[in-house]
Formats: sequence, C-alpha cells, structure tokens
Amino acid sequence: QNEKVALFIIFGGSGDLARRKLYPSLFRLYQKGYLSRHFAVIGTARRPWENDYYRQIVVDSLNDIQATDEQIAEFAGHFYYQSHDVTNAAHYTVLKKLADTLDQKYQLQHNRIYYLAMSPNFFGTIAKHLKSEQILTTAGFNRLIIEKPFGHDYESAAELNQQIRASFEEDQIYRIDHYLGKEMVQNIAAIRFGNNIIESLWNNRYIDNIQITLSEALGVEERAGYYESAGAMRDMVQNHISQIATLLAMEPPVSFSARDIRHEKIKVLRSLHIDTPEEAQHNFVRGQYGPAVIDGQRLEGYREANNVASDSKTETYVAGKMEFENYRWAGVPFYVRTGKRLAKKETRVDIVYKQLPTNIFKAAQDDNKLGHNILTIFIEPTEGFSLRVNAKRLGQGFATRPVDLNFRHSAAATGNSPEAYERLLLDAMNGDSTNFTHWDELSQTWKFADVVEKVWSENTPTDFPNYASGSMGPKAADELLARDGRHWIFSA
Ligand code: NAD
Repeated sequence: QNEKVALFIIFGGSGDLARRKLYPSLFRLYQKGYLSRHFAVIGTARRPWENDYYRQIVVDSLNDIQATDEQIAEFAGHFYYQSHDVTNAAHYTVLKKLADTLDQKYQLQHNRIYYLAMSPNFFGTIAKHLKSEQILTTAGFNRLIIEKPFGHDYESAAELNQQIRASFEEDQIYRIDHYLGKEMVQNIAAIRFGNNIIESLWNNRYIDNIQITLSEALGVEERAGYYESAGAMRDMVQNHISQIATLLAMEPPVSFSARDIRHEKIKVLRSLHIDTPEEAQHNFVRGQYGPAVIDGQRLEGYREANNVASDSKTETYVAGKMEFENYRWAGVPFYVRTGKRLAKKETRVDIVYKQLPTNIFKAAQDDNKLGHNILTIFIEPTEGFSLRVNAKRLGQGFATRPVDLNFRHSAAATGNSPEAYERLLLDAMNGDSTNFTHWDELSQTWKFADVVEKVWSENTPTDFPNYASGSMGPKAADELLARDGRHWIFSA
C-alpha cells in the first residue's frame, strides 16, 4: 500500500546528476516497493536517442547496486526517452502526447513530477512551457523539483522565482537542497527537540558559539565552468550552510509538520543579521587553494584547473560569522566555514557551551582551566554525535580531563540508510516539503550573501592563492575566531 503513483519527467535526462543520483535513487525506491507498477519516467535531452539506448544508460547507472538482471530490466522498462529542446514550444506538444499515453498505459492518475536536472538558465522557460503547452494536469498533482543554484544573487533569484510562480504555486515547488536530505542534518531536529537536556540549554545563556564546517578534500574537478562564476559563498554558504544554521537556530515548531517547521525557519531567518558592507569585510574571510605536493604527489592549484582563469579571483574557501538577533541567540556567533582541497572531508557542527563561572578544581589542574562542554554533530563522512564532558582523572588528586561520550552509526547501518536524493524524491512523491527550501528562506539568505559578494567584488583579493591544497584554509580564518577569543574546534 506504500506504492506511489506518478509520472516523472526529467529534463536533463542524459546529464551527470540524472545518472549519478536520480536513476540509482529511483531504483532503490523501486526495490523498496515505493515504485512498482504505476510509475513511468520520461527522460528528455537534446540528443536523438531511442528508448533502448536511454534504458541502457539507466541500467549502466545502477552498476553499484545489488539486484538481479531481471529486476533491473523490469525497472528500466518504465523509462522512455524524448528528444527535446526546452526552448522549442513545438517539442512540448510531442512531450505532452507521450506523457498522456504513459499516463493511460500505467494508470498514473495524472500525477506528474517535473525534475529540472539541467542548467538553471532554462528553469524559467521550462516552467512557462509546461503551463502554456498544457502539460500540467488538472486532475492529479503537479510538482516541480528544482536543482541548485537558484539564482546568482537576490535579484536573479527573485526573477527566476517569479517566472516559476507564473506556472506553479509555492506549495508545488520543491527546491532541492540535498543537505536537507542527509541523515544527520535531519537528526538535528531529533537531537534538539527530543532531548530535554539538550533543548533546555539551547540558548545564549549556555551556548558560547556554534561552528558549522563543510570541509571538502576534493578540488573543483569537473565543475570548474560553473564554479568560476559562483565561488564557495554561492555554492555552499548561501544554501547548505545557511540551511543548517537555520535548523540549529529555529524555535521548536508546534508540530513536526512541513508547515510548522517552515514557519519557524522563515521566522528565525528574519532575525538573521544582514551585515553592513563594513561588517561583511570584517566578518568574512575568503581563500583560494594553491598547489601542493603531498606524499610525493603534486596537487594542482585552483588556477591550473581546466576552465579556470589563470588569474581567477574566485574563492574556493569561505569562513565567516552569522548572527541571529533574537532572544535566544543574541550574542552567540555562528561561525561557518567551507572550502575545497582542505585537509579532510568532514561535515560537522560543534556546539560550544559556555564555561562554568569558576573552576573549583583549579588547584589540582595543570593549566587552571576546565574545557568547554562541546556537543558535536557528525554529518559526513561518519554519522553520529559526541558530547564532551569534564571528568576526574583516574588516580589521586582532583585533576580533570575531558571525556567524549561518543555515538557513531556503524558503516553497515549508514550504508543501508537511504541516500539524500532517495529520501527527497520520496518526500516529493508524498507531497512533503519539510526538507525543501521555501522562497522566503532563499530570499533572506541571498540578501545575506549579496552583501558579502558585493564587498568582495569591489575589493579584488591580492593574496590569492592563499592556502595550500591539503591545509585547513587561510590563516585569516583562524584569526577571525582568535579575535573573539575563540578557536575552531575541528582541525584535521
Ligand atoms: P549536465 O551538464 O551533466 O546535464 C545537463 C543536461 O541538460 C543534459 O542532459 C543536456 O542534454 C541537457 N540540456 C542542455 N541544454 C538543453 C536544451 N536546450 N534542451 C534540452 N536539454 C538540454 O548537468 P548536471 O551536472 O546533471 O546538472 C544539472 C543540474 O543539477 C544543474 O542545475 C546543476 O547545477 C545541478 N546540480 C548538479 C549536481 C551534480 O552532482 N551533477 C549537484 C548539485 C546540483
């Protein structure tokens, strides 16, 4: 009875995202019975392919998954290819015909999910044509799933939003932020709202600062063309990091429903302090990785990568400070950082609690200091959390030492847990928008990012590249916290 009924139309069906994420995720949903008889997928792209050729691409994308050939063939049989230029209105008529035929054939109840897995330049025109050429159905549901990036700045995002809203209502739009599909990001809510000892202390009376780290070991690789015009601020901070900060900062929702959560997210984002240009200059640090030799192997610098200008000013690293100006968080900085080619791949949140008013053990202590309590939420590559507490050192005397209470999911358990795209696709089929971003959230985070981008564009960096591949980023990122008397908890 869990079976979902829908027609997927994937724009960009020959692309990297479709092959690496969408087809494997759809297959897992198929294996679990969420997709069974009543689903079909139309893949579109410009090239003139036959269904069989397309189905082979789908089959090839399932390489890493254990399944019988029969099961895979049956699944792939639900896939259809339509050569389609998204700017050509006549092509939508052909697409509509195919959609209607499949609707009949598989009894899809006119439920349609449109997945835009292609360049954002085309999002507006696709949305427009879906309506004007009447591919949108009146009987079933119509849901639009949109990939990042959603705009380049506030203005372009608002324009794109307007274009899409001309065809879709806000509650039909599912803006993907795949970080919201990750197990431990979703776990933030469980840790906060399921635990008295956590939620009671979740405010500026007990928390000193919060640190969000999205550290990547890889360089820009194949995405340089896009990355050159985006940079780390747009690629990671405006969306993923801001979303994580929002989940950490929001008030408890009335219930754990999409509507109530959304309400709280939007509310807390209204309290996000938008820096003045002077503050942005002070509160944000940017970096770009240079070459390095590690274990005898030379890693190229960002400027040497394909499709990157030899004097590129694009930042591959950002560290900065966000602040929510409300009763709960006034005075608690949210330090955030992200970068490519750093020492280690790690996504985590460190919640650093305030120190006790006094240390009664100091006579026995080597350095007179009790460490901070720290709650760490590990998001990637391991998933779990740890709580650092101070305990008595074994033996005579009363020296203390920090002890970590650790919980990590086993690799086997996380291996079986659904991948982000799988979760999000199922959510969209269920009409659950909890883990997607609302326009009101995006508009606020763009306004926040825009100030920093503007200051940066007016002051070209003179010290790029300013961190070596395999390091933890530019020195200035450490100074950002040192200035406030703090330091980054995570260092590789
Ligand atoms: P891609 O370049 O691999 O694929 C683009 C697809 O669009 C291809 O199928 C191509 O045939 C099709 N296309 C291009 N112009 C067309 C036209 N005029 N008419 C019809 N089809 C056309 O891109 P991708 O990496 O799959 O990314 C797709 C989207 O997903 C982008 O918005 C990207 O930013 C986003 N995204 C991708 C990833 C990823 O891992 N690849 C991750 C996050 C977000």
